[in-house]
Order: sequence, then C-alpha cells, then structure tokens
Amino acid sequence: MKGKELQQGWDGLSDEIMDGVAEWRGQHPKATLREIEAEIDQRLSELRARMISDTANASASASWQAAEGVICPECGAKLIKKGKKKRILLTREGRQIELERDYGVCLACGQGIFPPG
Ligand SMILES: [Zn+2]
Repeated sequence: MKGKELQQGWDGLSDEIMDGVAEWRGQHPKATLREIEAEIDQRLSELRARMISDTANASASASWQAAEGVICPECGAKLIKKGKKKRILLTREGRQIELERDYGVCLACGQGIFPPG
C-alpha cells in the first residue's frame, strides 16, 4: 500500500523537527517571539515541502494512467509517453520541490508536456 509506505517514510520526521526546535531553543534562550516563530515556520516548511513532494511522487504513476488519453494542446494529436523526467515545481511558500513525472511528446508537432497531476 502506497499510503503505508508514505507514512513509514515520515516516521520520526516530526520528532526530528520538534527535537530540533527544542535544541534551538536551548541555544537561543533569549530569542524573541518573532524569532521563535520564524524558526518554527522554517522547520515546518521543510516538513511541508517534503510531504508535498513525497505525496505527489507517490501518485506519479497513477497520473499517467489517468492521462492515457491526453492529447496535444497544440494540434490535438495523441501524446506518446517518453519516460520520466524531473520537474521542478514551487510550493506556495516558494520552496522548490522536485518531482519525477511521466513526460509525453507529440509526434505530430514535437510539443512535449507533463500530463496533469
Ligand atoms: Zn502536437
């Protein structure tokens, strides 16, 4: 099950973050509320990016299945699957995440796209 695998990959991750915050607090006993907030946001956004990328990658193979009938947005011909390619996306917070995505190319006009998903 993909869900279980995902969860196992995250085991200990939140503990790591909480330990990290506790340790940081020990080293910064005089930190202001703003600094504490910034530090925690920073660490949580790492967790957030990791979860987004893991979750998206876990459903990568399913996405091409659903996109099997994808047609070229340029000319309407059917796309040919061209294997996987790395795709860099930005989260809303502006963090980069790297996804392995199926990639399709149109033989009629040469347009290459990532199916949605
Ligand atoms: Zn085309």
